[in-house]
Amino acid sequence: MDQLLKKILDAAGISGYEKDVASIMKKELEKSCDSVEIDSFGNVIAKKGKGKKKIMVCAHMDEVGLLVKYITKEGYIHFIKVGGIDDRILLGNRVIIKAKLGDVVGIIGSKAPHLQKEEEKNKVTKHDEMFIDIGAKSREDALKRVSIADQIIFEPNSGVLHGKLYYGKAPDDRIGCYALIKIMEKLKKTNAEIYAVATTQEEVGLKGARTSSFKIDPDFAIAVDTTIAGDNPGIREQDSSLKVGEGVCITIIEASGRGVIVSEKIKDMFIDTAKKNKIKHQIDVLEGGMTDGAMIYMNRAGIPTGVLSIPCRYLHAPTGVFSIDDVDTAVELAIKAIEQL
Ligand SMILES: [Zn+2]
Repeated sequence: MDQLLKKILDAAGISGYEKDVASIMKKELEKSCDSVEIDSFGNVIAKKGKGKKKIMVCAHMDEVGLLVKYITKEGYIHFIKVGGIDDRILLGNRVIIKAKLGDVVGIIGSKAPHLQKEEEKNKVTKHDEMFIDIGAKSREDALKRVSIADQIIFEPNSGVLHGKLYYGKAPDDRIGCYALIKIMEKLKKTNAEIYAVATTQEEVGLKGARTSSFKIDPDFAIAVDTTIAGDNPGIREQDSSLKVGEGVCITIIEASGRGVIVSEKIKDMFIDTAKKNKIKHQIDVLEGGMTDGAMIYMNRAGIPTGVLSIPCRYLHAPTGVFSIDDVDTAVELAIKAIEQL
């Protein structure tokens, strides 16, 4: 696995806590862009090229995670969820609390099955009934290492599953961030100003995309994000026919229309460009979930926006699976689209 990709996947950054990811993005984008700044909202905004038109390409830096809410007198940590996480995937996980004095390992504890009553076995434990064990003896003891409002991430674990299939704790949307770096690196001739934006706080309301696209006021925007692959057991083909390894997904509609509804012109442009350049692609019609594109396209007086998505298995879980080939096709299609705009 490419070391930069690993570094981005493993970095910590729940919504509002994207500082570490931002510093990686700034450093990498500085290598290929004319200027890079971090704005007051925490977005990384890089600029490359000259021209009358402005094109914005973005990917969000934040990941879903947890936040320290309360510490019991026995030294156990209660937490809130930041972003959409299914309570059922939390129990038993190892997490890292990003504390001021350094990382603290914790286990999301639960009652052993041996002690569970019959009715308990069939019910989902809610996240507010769970706790994190950091091996502290008391609240005072815990507070020596952890503070209220520290961010908590799933333990970084990226690696190669098999062949071109990789896994990591936050493919959504760190593989988009990685793609953004590659797009700016490979993008050569353009007669427009290209803005690469690594946005903040997408998972909690598409916020960084709102402020940054307002500021840039682009003529066209592309959001690069992840989408739900349907090629694992338990998902009906009619609910998602997208497959990992079958190419970048051109998203047409998100959240049954509550998110982006990509215009016919942009849809045709992406599909024609993919066909012309023989780029492996799939068409994404999403019933649930949206991206930064949903905010950008209705910002100001309406900004023409397209969404390119990389299919992932197990989104918003401690480990997601994706294909590096799909990341490459997303980079390729974004570049070809920008060049011809
Ligand atoms: Zn995302």
